[in-house]
Amino acid sequence: MSTRAERLIAALDGAGIDLMLVTNLVNVRYLTGYTGSNGLALIGPSTRVFLTDFRYTEQVQEEVHAEFERVTVAQNLITDAAEYLPEGTLRVGFESESTTVAALDRTRELFPERVQLIGVKGLVEDMRLVKDEQEVERITAATEIADAALEALLEGGLAGRTERDLALSLEHDMRLRGAESPSFDSIVAAGSHGALPHATPRDVKIEPGQMVVIDWGARYRGYCSDCTRTVAVGEPGPEAREAYELVLGAQQVGLDEVRAGGNTKAIDKAVRDIIYGAGHEGHYGHGLGHGVGLEIHEAPTLSFRTEDTLRAGTVVTVEPGVYLPGRFGIRIEDLVVVTEAGNRILTQIPKGLRTVD
Ligand code: ZN
Ligand code: ZN
Repeated sequence: MSTRAERLIAALDGAGIDLMLVTNLVNVRYLTGYTGSNGLALIGPSTRVFLTDFRYTEQVQEEVHAEFERVTVAQNLITDAAEYLPEGTLRVGFESESTTVAALDRTRELFPERVQLIGVKGLVEDMRLVKDEQEVERITAATEIADAALEALLEGGLAGRTERDLALSLEHDMRLRGAESPSFDSIVAAGSHGALPHATPRDVKIEPGQMVVIDWGARYRGYCSDCTRTVAVGEPGPEAREAYELVLGAQQVGLDEVRAGGNTKAIDKAVRDIIYGAGHEGHYGHGLGHGVGLEIHEAPTLSFRTEDTLRAGTVVTVEPGVYLPGRFGIRIEDLVVVTEAGNRILTQIPKGLRTVD
């Protein structure tokens, strides 16, 4: 089996470059195993070099794959990297989406003139799209931690506690259960606050009769989980119940549509048509879902703005919602692995409307 670095090397020609300078730390981690905060990789047919500073020399021996020459730099990463460039004229790719203008200028200054720097987009990100078995295992473990933490939170009841208190409890509990951290800042949003899709938890107490949107995830060995549940605290009333059933049905249609070969725009549309058709045009403005992996939001995006074809092994969310300004919000989100036949849902928390104390 070829390594990730070898697969990148096989893609260099198609990108019109001889060598790739990888500086985006998420991509560096994906290719080399390094989890620290200062490092880069130079990867080409005859080059596999990883550079870091002295703080990480020990860590690198454990983490960075043996196929890489592991270098502790004397000055700084780019100055030292220049010494590991192969001879002759070279087209060196840099990551145009994550390289700052200042870093590019500096690389131009420090690399020899025989090097032509070429901006490359999404080369490693494209590799990251399809997860291998180990990656799926880690995402699954992250999901299990998050599921268990929510279950414990709901059993304790929500009424009388503040959104902020609940969000912190959830995050603390996920760490106790083995998460490195939350995979993003948790959302706990009650009542009308739930109508903001990216609400920040407030110091406001949850009251009976409110719908509460909880969007949270764990990070486990680098990999993220992402899930949303909306629960009712006591009786939420007929309108909220009706909206909940609508979102639930629409989400199920989305799940039914997600499979290898599926078109991201068409899947989004199948769900959007149901929600808009029920009179909620204008109450659901965000995309249906996104890829999840080392990053909480990564390719592909399931949305009315994208036209990508889903591939088996990709991990995506399916998360429609209905947001009624000044009243309530409802979102239901699952994390799934795309398969040839359909998908496998990683989230194990039931989705029927749950009423809690
Ligand atoms: Zn989410
Ligand atoms: Zn999400």
